[in-house]
Amino acid sequence: MVQKQQRMSKGLVFDVQRYSIHDGPGIRTIVFFKGCPLRCKWCANPESQLSNIEIMHISNKCIRCGKCILLCKQKAITFKQNEIYLNRKNCNLCGLCVENCNTGAMKFIGKAFTEKELLSEVIKDELFYIASNGGVTVSGGEPFMQHSFLKTFLIECKERGLNTAVETSGYVETDIMNDILEYIDILLMDLKHVDDEKHVKGTGASNKLILKNWNMVARKTNNVICRVPVIPDFNDSIDEIYGIADFIKNIGIKEMHLLPYHKLGEGKYKSLGLNYELTGTQPPSNDKIQKYKEICESLDLKVQIGG
Ligand code: SF4
Ligand code: SF4
Repeated sequence: MVQKQQRMSKGLVFDVQRYSIHDGPGIRTIVFFKGCPLRCKWCANPESQLSNIEIMHISNKCIRCGKCILLCKQKAITFKQNEIYLNRKNCNLCGLCVENCNTGAMKFIGKAFTEKELLSEVIKDELFYIASNGGVTVSGGEPFMQHSFLKTFLIECKERGLNTAVETSGYVETDIMNDILEYIDILLMDLKHVDDEKHVKGTGASNKLILKNWNMVARKTNNVICRVPVIPDFNDSIDEIYGIADFIKNIGIKEMHLLPYHKLGEGKYKSLGLNYELTGTQPPSNDKIQKYKEICESLDLKVQIGG
């Protein structure tokens, strides 16, 4: 049991979404932790990746008034081809542009919370959780990157009687994951590819640790659901989806979610000064996803399309 006096750390959160009916049962609040060790090419939340506060410039809110350029003492903001350009190396996050932009086009991504502050935020909807058998889901980014804060926040939730779910890439030291499992009611864990080379190509990291963790969680908990993002030119084939389903079936996992690729995060890349590599990629067809579902169900898995 973590002692009370230890529960004073701060965690970096980039969003809190209320009234969600995804990512666990019932009505839920989704808390998004900032920071991720992977760099999946299809990531829909690129603002989750860095473990520090950043500035986002939202072009379609910007009226190009130039006020931020005049205010920035670091000379980090300029006009380039009638667009605001932010030189992030020069920015010291003073916040002047954010505070003074009248249209909200400049925005901080990431806010520090103590466990108590975050708990106060999520219990605003406690009555909805009770009425719907819902609860709190911690997502990211990779929540286990802030494992001390994650653990103490989950303990606070459990002491309050809240149902807890955690979404993870599975890319975390096995001992760390094992240490926190007892505070998680539902683990939503990705398995993106069973082929290591392809995994490295798509995510920037090996799947060896992830496969090791799958074996560990299969032994330790019954409440784990495998999540598979279905990504064209990465794992979008019968053999590749079957390979994932077969792996989890063999270690005793019973349920999986197929999450078709979508392009909803694309616009955020530009706002963060990042390059989106999958610009021309189209989502897989419904027929294809349905076929994958049937193939996985043929292994006696319970399969859902979407989270
Ligand atoms: S970001 Fe805001 S302050 Fe800067 S030019 Fe756009 S609207 Fe003006
Ligand atoms: S946060 Fe401060 S330093 Fe950074 S771009 Fe805005 S005004 Fe400039």
